[in-house]
Amino acid sequence: MRPIRRGDRGPAVREICTILAGLDLLVARRDDSDEFEAATEHAVRTFQQLRGLSVDGQVGAETWRALDAARWRLGARTLYQAIPDPLVGEDVRTLQERMLEMGYDVGRADGVYGARTARSVAQFQREVGVTSDGACGPHTMNALRRLGRKVIGGRPQWLRESDAFQQSGPDLVGKMIIIDPGHGGPDPGFVVPDGTLRWSEAELAYDLAARLEGRLAAAGMRVHLTRGPAPTAQLTDLARAHLANELGGDLFISLHIDGHANPEADGVATYHYGTDNGVTSTVGERLAGLVQREIVMRTGLRDCQTHAKTWELLRLTRMPAVRVEVGYLTSARDRERLTNPLFRDQVVEAVVAAVQRMYYPVDQDVPTGSIDVRELRAMVAAGARA
Ligand SMILES: [Zn+2]
Repeated sequence: MRPIRRGDRGPAVREICTILAGLDLLVARRDDSDEFEAATEHAVRTFQQLRGLSVDGQVGAETWRALDAARWRLGARTLYQAIPDPLVGEDVRTLQERMLEMGYDVGRADGVYGARTARSVAQFQREVGVTSDGACGPHTMNALRRLGRKVIGGRPQWLRESDAFQQSGPDLVGKMIIIDPGHGGPDPGFVVPDGTLRWSEAELAYDLAARLEGRLAAAGMRVHLTRGPAPTAQLTDLARAHLANELGGDLFISLHIDGHANPEADGVATYHYGTDNGVTSTVGERLAGLVQREIVMRTGLRDCQTHAKTWELLRLTRMPAVRVEVGYLTSARDRERLTNPLFRDQVVEAVVAAVQRMYYPVDQDVPTGSIDVRELRAMVAAGARA
């Protein structure tokens, strides 16, 4: 679907305006107005910023799904586990966040009313003496309103996630990591001509992924790539997340190279799941921090820091997941380094070190830049012989 943007008109634009007006992001206009105006674009940008989406002022597939889900306010409809198409919406996400705050294990607040959410609601209903059917209707809503505000919790779900992660032990052997080279096939990502050469984000991301695959496999991990070097079809973030979940990975790392109209923009940034109101994946946040710091320390790329986003790729993956934007292809300085295979090896070593540190208990963590990944391989080899 082509993104709907400024200058477009039609019923879809009217629909978008109605939703934005309902969110108080746009002043309601005449009913017959169906033009995507400057004010509409501004409202879309604000919405994207609030939801942690890429801010471009256009309504593409991901923004549309977020807008569609945003129509629902908690309490406006009865929520229940629908099979096979689960209910999705902002109301589900609000409910999940409230349940999480009260200590119920609904998993991640992903806005999808699945089995785990229904189970938690049923448990809550039993505890407050409401008919336990796993659906959230008026009675359950009343109970939630009565109790919801009294309970102040930490972030129990992420503590649980963190515990499970630590309990899996410091050894990399046998753990499964999903490496996701961005773009690919019909979608080359950022493309920059360089003399007679032509560098594309998709190719560089694949090269990094393939190098990483080799290193992590040598350290004893099971490694899966989400795509080959030249896929025939474009792979959506949704498909990548589903693939990672089906494989049952322990960690997920998506590799991208950034680009910007301003050639001065440069540096590395890492993204993990989180929302503006402080709901975050502690384990994902830690992985992002380690990846970011190791890359900055080992390569000297400018530190553009870590950021919380609710992108589908990060939200729907069930394991700790990060996306790294390794430098800017549009920056002459970054490009010169990215196109050097030795530099790409440094990036890969940094990621391997970060992955290893993820599995050390926090009190045994080592300083950034201190892990020699060659030593790691020797240790694995020694372990195999013993
Ligand atoms: Zn990209």
